[in-house]
Amino acid sequence: MIKRKSKDEIKRMRHAGHIVALVHQEMRKVVEPGISTKELDDIAMRIIKENKAIPTFLGYSGFPASICTSINEKIVHGIPSKDEILKEGDIIAIDVGATYGGMVGDSAWSYAVGKISEDKQRLMKVTEEALFAGISKMRAGNVLDDISGAIEDVANREKMGIVRNYGGHGVGHEMHEDPFLFNFRVGNQTKLKSGYVIAIEPMLNLGCDDVVVLDDKWSVVTKDGKASAHFEHTVLCTDDEPILMTTLMEG
Ligand code: MG
Ligand code: MG
Repeated sequence: MIKRKSKDEIKRMRHAGHIVALVHQEMRKVVEPGISTKELDDIAMRIIKENKAIPTFLGYSGFPASICTSINEKIVHGIPSKDEILKEGDIIAIDVGATYGGMVGDSAWSYAVGKISEDKQRLMKVTEEALFAGISKMRAGNVLDDISGAIEDVANREKMGIVRNYGGHGVGHEMHEDPFLFNFRVGNQTKLKSGYVIAIEPMLNLGCDDVVVLDDKWSVVTKDGKASAHFEHTVLCTDDEPILMTTLMEG
C-alpha cells in the first residue's frame, strides 16, 4: 500500500533530505583523483552524524557503510574501500541516505573525477535529464507509468541502456516502501496522489541493459563492462509542482 505522508512527516523528511544534500555538497568538493571511497564514506558519516541523523544504509540488510560508491561500470551498491582510489577519468555514483526524526531522505548523484571522456559526459548529462523528465511527471492525477515512460523516452532517444532490475521506490519511515518504480514503461496505472513521496532514480548505461552482481553480493555492474550513471532525488507529489526533498533548504 502506498502511504500518503502527513505534514509533520513531510517536514521531517525534508530535513533528512537537506542533510543528504549537505553530504552531496561536500562530495562535489572532495571527489578528485587520489581519494579513496572509504575516505568519502568517512566524510559522509561525519556530516550525517553532525546533523543528528542516522546513516540509513549502514546495516541495511547488512550493508557495511554509510554510502554506496559505484565507479564506472559499477551501477549501484558499491561498497566503499580504502583500497579503491579514484583516478582521473572515472565517474562515480554516490548514493546517500539519512534518517532524521524517523524519516528517510535518499539521493544519488554521479560525479566526474577530473577530466572524463565525451561518452561519459554524455551519459551523465542524459541520466540527469532522464531524472528530471521523470520528476516533471510526479503530479497528482498522473500515473506511475508516466514517470517510467518519461525516463525511458530520454534513454531511448539517446540509445542508452536502461537498468531493468533496479528502480525507484516509495520512501518515508522506511527507505524502501511501496510502490516500486520501473525506469521504463510497464503499464502501471496506479494514480499519483498528493502526499506520496517517491525516490526517482534512473540508472542508465553506455552499453547494454544487462547487469551482473559481483561476488561481494552487493556491487551491481554492467555485463558489458561499459560505464553506468545514477541520479536520484526523493520527490514529494502535490496537486501542483513536484517538490524536491533532497536539496539544500534555504536559511
Ligand atoms: Mg539512493
Ligand atoms: Mg533509492
